Amino acid sequence: MLKVNSSVTKGPFFFAAFLLLFFLASFYLISLFHHQREENYLKQVTEQQRVQLQSIIYSLEKTADIVFEILFDNNDTAEIFFLAGKVSGEKRDGLRQVLHERFASRYGDLQEYGIEFLHFHLPEAVSFLRFQSPSTYGDSLHGLRHSIDLVNTNRLPVHGFEEGHVSHGFRNVYPLFYWHEFVGTMEISYSFSVVRELAVRLFPAIHTLIIHEDVISRMASEQEQKRYISCRVSPLYREDRRVAERIQQELPALGIISLPELKTLNDELRSSVAERMAGGEAFSLARFVTEGGKMLLISFLPVRNVEGKDVGYFVSYREDLTLKGYSRRYRQVQFVIFCLALSALTVVFFYARQTQRRKKYQALATVDGLTGLANRFHFDLILEQAIRQVNRNNGMFSLILFDIDDFKKVNDSYGHDGGDKVLIHISSLIRASVREQDLVARWGGEEFAVLLPDTGAEDARIVSEKLRLAVQENRIWFGGSEIQVTSSFGVAQFKKEMGGAEPLFRKVDQALYRAKESGKNCVIIVG
Ligand code: GH3
Ligand code: MG
Ligand code: MG
Repeated sequence: MLKVNSSVTKGPFFFAAFLLLFFLASFYLISLFHHQREENYLKQVTEQQRVQLQSIIYSLEKTADIVFEILFDNNDTAEIFFLAGKVSGEKRDGLRQVLHERFASRYGDLQEYGIEFLHFHLPEAVSFLRFQSPSTYGDSLHGLRHSIDLVNTNRLPVHGFEEGHVSHGFRNVYPLFYWHEFVGTMEISYSFSVVRELAVRLFPAIHTLIIHEDVISRMASEQEQKRYISCRVSPLYREDRRVAERIQQELPALGIISLPELKTLNDELRSSVAERMAGGEAFSLARFVTEGGKMLLISFLPVRNVEGKDVGYFVSYREDLTLKGYSRRYRQVQFVIFCLALSALTVVFFYARQTQRRKKYQALATVDGLTGLANRFHFDLILEQAIRQVNRNNGMFSLILFDIDDFKKVNDSYGHDGGDKVLIHISSLIRASVREQDLVARWGGEEFAVLLPDTGAEDARIVSEKLRLAVQENRIWFGGSEIQVTSSFGVAQFKKEMGGAEPLFRKVDQALYRAKESGKNCVIIVG
């Protein structure tokens, strides 16, 4: 019996699996590419932020250098220090008074330009005059203010961020010389607010500074510590209350984010930044803010003091369109791939179904509906093939045509159903009695054809005889009765000189006719 080939359904299945894998791999690669691109962009942003902050601090340092050079780096000022170093008590107070009067109005001008601290010290880091607090002096800053100690040691200017007892800020400390003799140091410092104000003006964004709580508890006076409020991004850091208030005032004009959303965002950031902050890393993050559908970039730049220790983070929040564009394009590409995958799989599905149906119909068209044997159409095709093969390769085959004897009587006695049962029975009997490579077909009615490849006339006769006996000895039960039939056989071997199928059939037909004539239930072979 012919079978429908199962590989027909496996092909599209493998193709669909391949497509699925291909699309999954595409998804994976594209997401990898997207995240790589996002990461690179964030690295660029961090670097950009670092350069921006650095340029602000650098320009402030240069301004401090100019102020020092024009106003304080002269023998007139240094002489006061030279003298103060040699006296004490009232005489020293008098010299302090002279210094204060000389620069009091200048200090007012400098304050307007953001210089908050003007602090003079005698050698060994002894405070001589604080313009920001003239009544506090005489205390030693040795061991407390590394920048001043450094200048005392190296006699070279020092620039950098430094925490202090009263305040933290960006310090510029210079050595003072009187006729080449080192007579003391002076400090021109900016508070963080100055850096922040400039950053906001030059690069509109939310900028803030958070200081590590250890630094605050170690350095700041109790009074000063009250100036700091807890920081939402990290419980280990604190934020200057005045800076936080200033940011609140600026928020509406900046139009980046509202205060409640900023608070929520900071709370959300906490877990993402903890590890990176602990490592003192400079980094940026991107977060989508639902309000207004904005993409925000949050950059964290570590702030190191003059000793090179991490003391805080400069944090900025700004709106970003580039990354938003990346994400939109990424989603578009994802959508396109998804649609392509869906369409491709749909096409494969329909193709597979179509192929399956076609194969099914093809199979039906080649098989006899009642007996399951090959039909005449299919048999003809295989016979043509066999003839071609013999003509080409000098092989051989034989053809048997057999007909059930007196079948009309079977129908008459047992009805059409009884006849059908006999046909089905004989079909499977014959099929089971021949070799796998032999083709059995229902030629029509109760007539059957058997193609025996690689079989000569004599062997075909033996096979026919075997089949004849098998039919004769076979018993078929139907409706309580036993049916027995016989059959007549016509046999011939194909010869090249016959030329085609028709002459062969004519010969076999004649043989079968003769078998019927000779009293049925016999085999007639023709040469
Ligand atoms: P002979 O020995 O000369 O072959 O006599 P016969 O009666 O077998 O031959 P005949 O050609 O006179 O009759 C064949 C009968 O087979 C006639 C037809 O009704 C019956 N037949 C053909 N096809 C089918 C079928 O599919 N089912 C049934 N039940 N009968 C069929
Ligand atoms: Mg018959
Ligand atoms: Mg017949």
